[in-house]
Amino acid sequence: MENRMNQLTKCVHAGLQDDLGIGGVTTPIYMSSSYKIPKGPGEIRYPRRYNIPTQRAAAEKVAALENGETGLVLASGMAAITSTLLTLLKTGDHAIIQSDVYGGTYHFAESELRRFGIEVSLVRGESIDDYADQVRPNTKVIFFETPTNPLIKVTDVEAMAGMAKDKGLLTVIDNTFATPINQRPLDLGIDVVIHSGSKYLGGHSDLCCGVVVTSRSLMDRIYQTAVNLGGVLGAIECYQLERSIKTLGLRVKQHNKNGLALAQFLATHPWVKQVNYPGLPDHPGHGTAKKQMDGFGGMLSIDPGDVETARRLVENLTLFTHAVSLGGVESLVCFPALTSHSEMAPEDREKLGITDSLLRLSVGIEDTDDLIADFDRALKG
Ligand SMILES: *Cc1c(COP(=O)(O)O)cnc(C)c1O
Repeated sequence: MENRMNQLTKCVHAGLQDDLGIGGVTTPIYMSSSYKIPKGPGEIRYPRRYNIPTQRAAAEKVAALENGETGLVLASGMAAITSTLLTLLKTGDHAIIQSDVYGGTYHFAESELRRFGIEVSLVRGESIDDYADQVRPNTKVIFFETPTNPLIKVTDVEAMAGMAKDKGLLTVIDNTFATPINQRPLDLGIDVVIHSGSKYLGGHSDLCCGVVVTSRSLMDRIYQTAVNLGGVLGAIECYQLERSIKTLGLRVKQHNKNGLALAQFLATHPWVKQVNYPGLPDHPGHGTAKKQMDGFGGMLSIDPGDVETARRLVENLTLFTHAVSLGGVESLVCFPALTSHSEMAPEDREKLGITDSLLRLSVGIEDTDDLIADFDRALKG
């Protein structure tokens, strides 16, 4: 039933758990950490077994949106990423990881995976051949994101999944930036989808959580690791997540509209040297994005050319708050060189194209004209 619904309907209805007590129309928040042992057959409930109805509601909603068999909700995006990779990899294995994945993922791979004797190859770029070239006899997993942070590069998801299947590798994608409204990687052959629910799924900058969606057979394995690692999400946060996703479809439509309109406006502005947004026809990944995405999202980055202009712009903007993170209803702006990529050597940043004047925008759901007017004023000021 749930997989036959369209995305906006799933946002509202998928995953809901009945209130058996008094018939409320929302999923009850079960706070208990102790549950009576069933007299007859039936599972014993415990939060760290991820089997409380409040947890299941959020997990099943995201699984339905991703067209996956099953989902698991965890305490952060990183808990989802680490539980997944520590399940699929063991000492002596090799993983291929995109070099511009989320900073936390990069650090986890570089420090923890290597510490456990797992080999890691970092691949730069969007070409599937570059990933194929890195495959070794002990390669097990390819991990990537699209679109990426902060340069909003696009990788062909179906081509990646096809190459990996040919070589017998599992693919894991971090779908945080796209959301399941704009992109459903499992339909394109990817094995595991991960979200930082702290971003668009939560959507109101007041929640930290993560989600894994995959097949039942892979989840049986990831689940065991997640039980052992213990990164559970509290009942209230599970409720917040499930409640927030009811408006995900509506929010993402407005993020898409605002992202595109602002990118188009900035691309014509003489003071902006570079605009990275896959909805623009001259973006190198535009064709691929059009093929695999239902919308181009609310994330873009711009380079005003020099740090002074960029600083002035950030100061002059009134609707874009200078802040980290992304995906909320309010618009945000930050300097990746000072935030997500501050630990990278300046020359490595320059090589990637992450200049000191690059600004990353998380475009919110405000009125489109107001956001453009804010930039127009800020650029003139
Ligand atoms: C924020 C983020 C993460 C990490 O999520 P947390 O909830 O902060 O642990 C992972 N991937 C991407 C793309 C992110 O933006």
